Amino acid sequence: MPKPIPVPDELSKPFWDAANEGRLVIHHCKDCDTLQHPPRPRCRDCGSENLEWKEVSGKGRISTCMVIDDGRIGRMHPDQPFNLATIILDEDPRVNMYSNIPGVPVRQAPEGAAVEVFFEEVSPTQKVPEWRLVG
Ligand SMILES: [Zn+2]
Repeated sequence: MPKPIPVPDELSKPFWDAANEGRLVIHHCKDCDTLQHPPRPRCRDCGSENLEWKEVSGKGRISTCMVIDDGRIGRMHPDQPFNLATIILDEDPRVNMYSNIPGVPVRQAPEGAAVEVFFEEVSPTQKVPEWRLVG
């Protein structure tokens, strides 16, 4: 079942380009040293437009994990049930990303578990960050 293919816009293009290179980059405010995801035109904390892209370690933890078995996105139905985990980055627990934790059966992606990013090819021209359990 093909996953939705991201359509980068001007703001998010550096994020997707980095994913294609196997790097995870996050929007970073140079004025108040805040990371934010997804990228926005201004810093969520101080409103600055002095933003850059910062490469992060790709290490994190599962904050919460639920099981989707009645999702409303029709093209995902054949994959149900599936994990929907919230990942918090080691660099900043306020930066959240979402993952199905590919390859891990439902209810076996424990909250608090350490994860690391990898990059999954969803089209010939685009990779997306995904997460797997460490160890
Ligand atoms: Zn800021």
